[in-house]
Amino acid sequence: MNKLDSEVAAGHLLEAGYAAAESPADADLILINTCSVRQHAEDKVWSLLGTLRPHKRRNPGLVIGVIGCMAQRERDRILARMPHVDLVCGPLELDRLPDLVEEIRQERHHILAVGEGHVGRVPRVVSHRPNRFQAFVAIMRGCDNFCAYCVVPYVRGREASRPPDEIAEEVAALVADGVKEVTLLGQNVNSYGRTLGERGNDSRSLLCEAPQGAVNGKRLLVSFPLLLRRLDCIAGLERLRFVTSHPKDATDELFRAMAELPSVCPYLHLPAQSGSNRVLRDTNRSYTREHYLERIARLRELVPGIEVASDFIVGFPGETEAEFEETVALVRQAEFQNCFIFKYSPRPGTKAAEMPDDVPWATKQERNRRLLAVQEDTMRRRNAAMVGRTVEVLVEGTSPRDPANLTGRTRANHIVAFPAQAALAGQTVLVEIIAATPLTLLGRLQAVARR
Ligand code: SAM
Ligand code: SF4
Repeated sequence: MNKLDSEVAAGHLLEAGYAAAESPADADLILINTCSVRQHAEDKVWSLLGTLRPHKRRNPGLVIGVIGCMAQRERDRILARMPHVDLVCGPLELDRLPDLVEEIRQERHHILAVGEGHVGRVPRVVSHRPNRFQAFVAIMRGCDNFCAYCVVPYVRGREASRPPDEIAEEVAALVADGVKEVTLLGQNVNSYGRTLGERGNDSRSLLCEAPQGAVNGKRLLVSFPLLLRRLDCIAGLERLRFVTSHPKDATDELFRAMAELPSVCPYLHLPAQSGSNRVLRDTNRSYTREHYLERIARLRELVPGIEVASDFIVGFPGETEAEFEETVALVRQAEFQNCFIFKYSPRPGTKAAEMPDDVPWATKQERNRRLLAVQEDTMRRRNAAMVGRTVEVLVEGTSPRDPANLTGRTRANHIVAFPAQAALAGQTVLVEIIAATPLTLLGRLQAVARR
């Protein structure tokens, strides 16, 4: 979502006549996009902002802005602590950027543009894609789940789904412009549609060509599986991905859509957060470890070749060694393709911030390392089992680690590196896997895939 916000900010500014600068010293406008999910990310922004002071002294016409979640959360404190910052703009106001910057240029005063979090405003989308064949599309904004540790609902506002017509039009336009892979974005994509119409969306836009569905006995004009079915009809869309899904909304209807629709990739990012039912209850995740394991077993039954990835937080308040071991056991059992592991960071204003942050930092670090080691074992074993297979890869470009290699991803989201000419970027190719590390498959180019 942050990457897309940067693309949207760049898109609006390019549309208004701006061009990319080569370096900060070269720029008339510097915007820092920020994340508030963990304290560490915010600390990095404070120190980066400090390093921009000399640029402002050298070029007094320079406009410096902070955008994103930290802008929303820290608002006045940023302007008070960093007087060389001219603009603080929250994630729901990005479409106003050109006007706000112009106003600063004309009138030389600071601007604070942070929307009220509960409004659920969905700004106009004009994004600048880093490459021509992949694109992010936000299908909703905000989040209504209020997981006890999480700042997102406070900084990105309440959940608001975009009308399906608008999304389908945007995806069709992207595909017509050469996009092969679209990633749908939302904090809880599989609750898509629940907030449609409730917050003042035009009722005509609820009409969806797909059949009507029902969830929990309530009729819904559109749901996430129905949205997938509709987007899958767009000719030329090779790969449809989505993040993030919540285990409480991981229904058989979604799994069936994943299995049946040719464009939908067999990969599901389904954050578990913990393997302990006590922690899951206190984090307000509204499922149990048994439910989570049952859901991924069912997913594997219904969707052949599916890969599952997850997020975990270690050191949530009160997490005992035995509770952490339940997480370790879940990670071993679930055989994830990948896991993102985070040390719990208290976020002011959340429910968990009222609980004592009683797991020492060293213990969080040690649990993080242990869980990663378990996951790495799984990845080493599962990637080694891929050697000898031929996989379809959408080439993303030259490998940042080794310029002799190209990298790309399989439909199931494995990272593949192989030697070939850079001109293949954006092509779908077949690669034979000849070696593997825990994170990367190494291969040999076989052919450019025919579509
Ligand atoms: N909406 C997504 C979901 O529910 O899975 C994820 C959104 S969050 C921005 C990304 C990940 O950051 C979460 O899955 C969680 O593991 C982690 N996270 C969120 N708040 C955190 C906190 N206070 N401390 C540590 N990790 C946190
Ligand atoms: Fe945060 Fe939970 Fe919403 Fe994800 S679902 S954004 S973790 S509150």
